Amino acid sequence: MPGFELFGEAEKAQVQDVLDSGVLMRYGFDGMRNGHWKAKELEKAVAERMQTKYAQLLSSGTAALTVALQAAGIGAGDEVIMPTFTFVASFESILAIGAIPILVDIDDTLTLDPVAVEKAITPKTKVVMPVHMCGSMADLSALKAICLKYNLLLLEDACQAIGGTYEGKPLGSYGDLGCFSFDFVKTITCGEGGALITNNEVYYKHADHYSDHGHDHMGNDRGAEAHPFLGYNYRISELNAAVGCAQIKRLDEFIAIQKEHYSVLRNALTGVEGVTFRRVPEGGVENYSFLNFFLPTEELTRKAHKALGAAGVDACFYWFDNNWHYYRKWEHLTGLRTLGKFPHEIIHGMPNYETADFSKSDAWMGRTISSLVKLSWTKQQVEQRAELLANIIADTLKP
Ligand SMILES: *Cc1c(COP(=O)(O)O)cnc(C)c1O
Repeated sequence: MPGFELFGEAEKAQVQDVLDSGVLMRYGFDGMRNGHWKAKELEKAVAERMQTKYAQLLSSGTAALTVALQAAGIGAGDEVIMPTFTFVASFESILAIGAIPILVDIDDTLTLDPVAVEKAITPKTKVVMPVHMCGSMADLSALKAICLKYNLLLLEDACQAIGGTYEGKPLGSYGDLGCFSFDFVKTITCGEGGALITNNEVYYKHADHYSDHGHDHMGNDRGAEAHPFLGYNYRISELNAAVGCAQIKRLDEFIAIQKEHYSVLRNALTGVEGVTFRRVPEGGVENYSFLNFFLPTEELTRKAHKALGAAGVDACFYWFDNNWHYYRKWEHLTGLRTLGKFPHEIIHGMPNYETADFSKSDAWMGRTISSLVKLSWTKQQVEQRAELLANIIADTLKP
């Protein structure tokens, strides 16, 4: 997945441009910057590639989620539905604005189960936030139908699936708002950075102002700009945006490489009895950043994962035991361990996750192994990996 694997001259030239002009900030200094507006350029490229009217760059994917929620007017005590399998940024962004993360089971798509989502809706629910983990997407049409029925916002976290599509639309563009991360390990990277996309002009303007201290960005005298509402600083720097300008042009090339590598691995595993693959919803096309598969039992999956590690097959993940990506290890969340006092809406509104039943999620995650798909593998390396993977899994599953 990581775009940094293929850094080259284009990235260096973009950064050099910024250093030559000397303006490292994305706003102001019009005279000095010699026509270099890297953040604006990348916003235009992201909006075009994702077929949305607007894109707002931000300092991270976590910031993008936070700003997206703010831009849509979500706040204290509102409930946001999110999956049990995700990255900690999901609940961090929700808590950051005083809202309440409502954890909901996943299904064999490894993302939100629409049936469980509908059951979790209360009068306080405002947002459904599917997270397209490990290169593939949630059942978006079912989730959209639920959002329409209950008048909820659909916010797509497409941080791990950039370049994938659903019903012909780029992931992130199907919902009301979509978010991407350009952190160092994502398919395309800015070092640190993120973006939100939307076709809603009001959300876009809110995001644009909010992420820069509430500046309305009217005219060309930054000091004289008005502040229609309170904001914060979630800006990206020109240096980071410059790297992204080079990387986004390579997105399709990266996806094509991932698809090729993914296909070799998948073909090898297809012949192994007992292996099944993660379900991709109808109408969906993955971005191929991971190959995700199920083994018959939790015990066999643990055994296979251990054997893969012992054989030196790197970057195979067993998320069920992972510290970051699965609810079982989120003790800082379930115990509400905060540095300062939290808003009382959160303290009183948080479900008791210490006793919650996510056995449906456990049944899938306990049997899931994900292999990262690297860009830098040679043809020979991919083939060797495929053979090892298939042999080790077959050995493990042998009766
Ligand atoms: C990486 C990631 C984020 C957060 O992005 P950062 O840029 O690292 O803040 C959010 N959600 C998912 C699913 C991610 O993988």
